[in-house]
Amino acid sequence: MPNHQPPLTLPEADRAAAAPPPLAAWRAQFPVLSQQIHGHALAYLDNAATTHMPLAVMEAMRRFETHERANIHRGVHTLSQRATDAFEQARATLKRFIGADAGHELVFTSGTTESLNLVAQGLWGAGPGQAWLRPGDRIISTGLEHHANLVPWQHAARMSGAELVVLRPDAQGRLQQDALAALLTPRTRVLAITASANATGERPPYEAMLAMARQAGALTVLDAAQAVGHGMPALSALACDFMAFSGHKMYGPMGIGVLAGRRDALERLHPLRLGGDMVEDVSYERAIYAALPARLEGGTPNVAGAVGLAAAATFIDRIGRAAIDGHLHALRAQAVAGLSALPGVTVLAPHATQAALVSFVADQVHPHDIGTLLDERGIAVRTGHHCAQPLHDHFGLGPTTRASFALYNSAEEVERLIAAVARALEMLR
Ligand code: PMP
Repeated sequence: MPNHQPPLTLPEADRAAAAPPPLAAWRAQFPVLSQQIHGHALAYLDNAATTHMPLAVMEAMRRFETHERANIHRGVHTLSQRATDAFEQARATLKRFIGADAGHELVFTSGTTESLNLVAQGLWGAGPGQAWLRPGDRIISTGLEHHANLVPWQHAARMSGAELVVLRPDAQGRLQQDALAALLTPRTRVLAITASANATGERPPYEAMLAMARQAGALTVLDAAQAVGHGMPALSALACDFMAFSGHKMYGPMGIGVLAGRRDALERLHPLRLGGDMVEDVSYERAIYAALPARLEGGTPNVAGAVGLAAAATFIDRIGRAAIDGHLHALRAQAVAGLSALPGVTVLAPHATQAALVSFVADQVHPHDIGTLLDERGIAVRTGHHCAQPLHDHFGLGPTTRASFALYNSAEEVERLIAAVARALEMLR
């Protein structure tokens, strides 16, 4: 069996040291970082949108493409078997990474958006009499969600005749358990909630909320896109029926992601992609769908992406999620302190100390202008609504500026961010 994970050579002494983190060794894994942008060292602070890939991930994908590439599940020839093994080994690695147990299955998708669409459409797609969602049922989503965990539910409600109810955050952007309790009814069939809000960094009490919804008889959906690379509980410890995430936000490739969940819940989903690889038996008149996970993986999958995603999971675990999180929380605390001290700057959700990002607004200054001036200094941040427009409306805010951190970011980069924002505000006011 080929080894898909080249060794990550961190000196033992560095690994043992709790503080400071061995940043130089971590950064050396990410060649993209050692470039100049507009004459300045790149400070890449757009990690909530997409993180970069370490050499270990690229090497795993290069090896697959060089030695094993073939279509999976169909061939008797050696390469096809190697590719199938690589794909299934990636599935097993990722199941371990998220803490799945024997009652769970893991399906590869193109990313969080496809995973959430697969759930939302799968729950009404079987049609009248068969579907989980029926007229008069209730779907609950929350006011913190990325559009990917809201728009598919709007569509599911329209198609099934169910109603969509949004659990509103309070004025600080927090979700309250008693507010959820007030929305749960015997007809509540779904709760779809984020594990970490990409626009503010808010971490809702999702463990308790998933449990409350399951207790009420609903299927529970967790958007883990911003959480899976961090200190999340094991899937087996959560009352979670479906969990979605993307490779490119956890040091893995783009175009690959996961829908994991309880087997019996996944079996309820009508497949989104019908065709080859997802059928057991086909005649001109009808098809018998295959068992999980193939049933939900119609068509040729992104095998190299799956291999790369598994390598990213291994990379994260070799460094350690606790070590990464400690570093990220320290960077966020430093950024919140520095930015809040600037005149006319308001940080969103300042209480969210477990966040790996910071979003802020500045009086009289448009975020796009801040973002453009930061880019001139080599600092990459994101400006806009971050695909969470209703949350910004809830706050009565327009677009914001968001800096988001990954394990390779440094305190020095955060200092540069704060100084560059201060300078931008002086120039723009
Ligand atoms: N949910 C959250 C919380 C996100 O942050 C994102 C990406 N910004 C998504 C869903 C969508 O992920 P993708 O674009 O990889 O499908």
